[in-house]
Amino acid sequence: MSDKMRLNRSWASCHPFCPRPEDAIPSPSRRPAFAWGTRRKYAPMHPAQIEAGLVRVHVLDPPHSPATGVNAFERAIRRARNQLFKAVFSGEGCSCMFCGKSYRRFLHQGVRADVFKKHRVSGAGFKKNVRCPNCGSNQRTRLLHLFFEFRTEIYEKDVRVLHISPKRPIARELRRHQNIDHVCGALFPERFAEFRAVRLDVTDIEFADGEFDVVICNHVLEHVREDETAMKEIYRVLTPGGFAVLQVPLALDLAETLEDPKVVEKRERIHAYGQKDHLRLYGLDYFDRLRNAGFRVSRDNPFKNQWVPDVENFCLDKDEDIFLGSKD
Ligand SMILES: [Zn+2]
Repeated sequence: MSDKMRLNRSWASCHPFCPRPEDAIPSPSRRPAFAWGTRRKYAPMHPAQIEAGLVRVHVLDPPHSPATGVNAFERAIRRARNQLFKAVFSGEGCSCMFCGKSYRRFLHQGVRADVFKKHRVSGAGFKKNVRCPNCGSNQRTRLLHLFFEFRTEIYEKDVRVLHISPKRPIARELRRHQNIDHVCGALFPERFAEFRAVRLDVTDIEFADGEFDVVICNHVLEHVREDETAMKEIYRVLTPGGFAVLQVPLALDLAETLEDPKVVEKRERIHAYGQKDHLRLYGLDYFDRLRNAGFRVSRDNPFKNQWVPDVENFCLDKDEDIFLGSKD
């Protein structure tokens, strides 16, 4: 048995998840039909959407859509910047497992906000060595891929995965594996057409109890008004023995979550929580909220627990743990 399999098996005994039933219908081939160079931007959110607890989603231009006006100019600038960066920083030091490229460093990325520094927030804020200039993967997606690779058997067993408002590099990776029945859910599914997304409100998930072995809901809950309802819904659709990955920006030095329904203006939210579309800044009581929803909670970190060989090579955020909610 390989070291990796041994590690997976020992971990699986602590954090088991059930494989898909034998009689489940195999999902169709899901090779993604995406086009490089498509534009990604954040969808504008109306205050009413935020009030209703709607989640932020990403917008992807239809493949081969004509580039026009400012968008074409921005795209050309971005491409030129990336080409220059790749030429200047070619070398070793930061590796991307999604595209197989490596550079002396990655692009810096993130939102500069005082509150992120003030409260030592992991999973948010401006960071160095974040974004792969070739494929756009970031620290979060590389961490998640490594977690699946070294700490679960998700890439080997038949599993059904609900992926809520996914990041594209990890969603494409999951869909490459024929053993994974990858269901993408988003409030505006047309924006995730390449993943054949279904409409999904995370506070009212239209799937039956216990339908999924794995739920991925990363950097969504901080945008949702009724986050505790969302946690209960995610718990409900998990099969016993399944798990959910529930990443959020977490203030490492706050015992209690910062949250005030009276903070509604964009400027107030940026000041209080770091981003205009964040409805709270989670403190360490985030894990109590997950426990109240029914989860058995654990945290896992590749640096502290040393489950990734040459972990420095992937340019991850050392403070960012995997937040895991298991259903016993
Ligand atoms: Zn890459």
